[in-house]
Amino acid sequence: MAKSDIKRMIEIGQWIEGYLKATATSWDFLNLARSFVDLYNIDYGVTKNDITIAIARMIEEQPKEIQDYYKINLTAAHSVVGRDIYQKKDPLKIYRVAEKISEECIVFDEDRECFLTPVLPCLNDLYSYREYLQYSFKKIMEFKQPWQVSLMTLSKEQTIFTKRDENNKIIEINKPKTLPIIFSLRHNYKKIHTTIYENKDNQTFTRLKQFTVNGVFTRKDRIKQYPCENIVPSNFPWKIAASRAFFDFLFLGGQDYYGFCEWCGNFFVSKRKLKKIYCSDNCRASHRNQINREKAAAKN
Ligand SMILES: [Zn+2]
Repeated sequence: MAKSDIKRMIEIGQWIEGYLKATATSWDFLNLARSFVDLYNIDYGVTKNDITIAIARMIEEQPKEIQDYYKINLTAAHSVVGRDIYQKKDPLKIYRVAEKISEECIVFDEDRECFLTPVLPCLNDLYSYREYLQYSFKKIMEFKQPWQVSLMTLSKEQTIFTKRDENNKIIEINKPKTLPIIFSLRHNYKKIHTTIYENKDNQTFTRLKQFTVNGVFTRKDRIKQYPCENIVPSNFPWKIAASRAFFDFLFLGGQDYYGFCEWCGNFFVSKRKLKKIYCSDNCRASHRNQINREKAAAKN
């Protein structure tokens, strides 16, 4: 593998490491959103009042059960949370929160609707895509096969609706218990495009990369023009970022360079092919201390 590929793979891996960190705060997410934009050179300004960050900030102030409701969906029937949010039956009614944010920043009703239409279906993407990545990375380790083979097995498992006998007669209909995760990751991967921007002042065309999301575009240069950030909030597309980082990391050879810490459970990336099982020296020491304590207790 070329040296530059390894460097890029580690950079993307470290972004994923930050994104999947169990203790990541809304402040970390804001920095992650901005560093993704830089990592991929995308013309997108993440505002301090980004709608996904505002919601993350609110969720992290809640008691653990409420936090878990939003953060841990995969094990439950996933669609339930989405439906709850849509019907404003979730504990924090985050749909209403998004509406309120739009009322504060946008004057006209029609503009508000244009803003909210793409925002509403992805209110919980920040957390659900974390789970998608965690789940997929764990399965790849479990299957002990080339990652592409593992993901194909996984995506087959999730999309089988029917079991048939040898005469092709349906004997059982299975409804998938989880969303088709791999399909979703693949589908969102492609949503970064390159556009030609016309700069009339100096008569040039410039190529700009943008997220392909309906409606909400927040240009980088516009954010620089209005540093007070008293403008329409961005809506950082976590599902696009997470999908992009996930596949790029694997395509660059990341399969041999990641693991989940034996002590704290966090995803981590290693600069050399993987021998390590802890994310940090701290976790190694904590685990060793615990083992020694247990040994001492067993002796007494
Ligand atoms: Zn650890």
